[in-house]
Amino acid sequence: GRLDVRVPVGGGSELARLSASFNAMAEALQRSEERQRRLVADVAHEMRTPLSNLRGYLEGLSDGVVQPSRELFASLHEETLLQRRILDDLQVLALAEAGDLNYTTAPVDLADLVSGGATAHRVVAADAGVALTVDAPAPVWVDADPDRLRQVLGNLLSNAIRYTDRDGHVLLRVRAEGTEAVLTVQDNGVGIAPGDLSRVFDRFWRADPARQRATGGTGLGLTIAHRIVTDHGGRIEVTSRQHLGTTFTVRLPGRP
Ligand code: ADP
Repeated sequence: GRLDVRVPVGGGSELARLSASFNAMAEALQRSEERQRRLVADVAHEMRTPLSNLRGYLEGLSDGVVQPSRELFASLHEETLLQRRILDDLQVLALAEAGDLNYTTAPVDLADLVSGGATAHRVVAADAGVALTVDAPAPVWVDADPDRLRQVLGNLLSNAIRYTDRDGHVLLRVRAEGTEAVLTVQDNGVGIAPGDLSRVFDRFWRADPARQRATGGTGLGLTIAHRIVTDHGGRIEVTSRQHLGTTFTVRLPGRP
């Protein structure tokens, strides 16, 4: 049962106004309780799969049904790494939602940051057979936390590579538009169905859980990216056409 702590509101007195604001507070508390309940349920659901995979392998090993092999240990290791990533991402998200993610802001050249991020992803892109191009010809300055911006870029870029087939292409573009700094991450990959576009930033949402599992994502990358960009006073948008590709656009207030 849910505790209802609301008090009756009557008359136009001071007391009535107090009661009304007390009720508003009680409702806000119940909403945040509901959100927490959902978060815990989501996390339990997400952690269950890697855990039961692990358990299955370990039981098979001890029963002698599964033979130990280098591949098996590698995949066991991969399951533990995935759980670790889910927990790390959740921690960032929880801190952000509580307003406790501390941003250390400094003048940042977005063009430079993006070029560096691309360099860091060259090997992953090459392994996936995806060509990576950077179009950031001039410095574009923003006031931002460079580590958190790198995290945003990393999430968008690794998605673009992950959801693009071999021989595909990812383009990173940085420009100043009016007073804004604009980063686009464009791929010619699998795309996102029109009906799903509004859900991509939702926690743990994935178009295709099986593919996502296979590629080692946590379902939290875009939620975190959205949060960080919003906390910087910016916006993040997505356009996509199925089987043709996806473009994420990040707009940040430029440095005056
Ligand atoms: P993850 O990539 O770990 O699953 P994200 O929050 O980063 O989690 O992304 C959520 C979902 O959005 C992905 O599972 C995928 O279905 C979809 N998605 C994200 N980026 C792209 C992209 N560039 N192209 C196609 N689908 C994408």
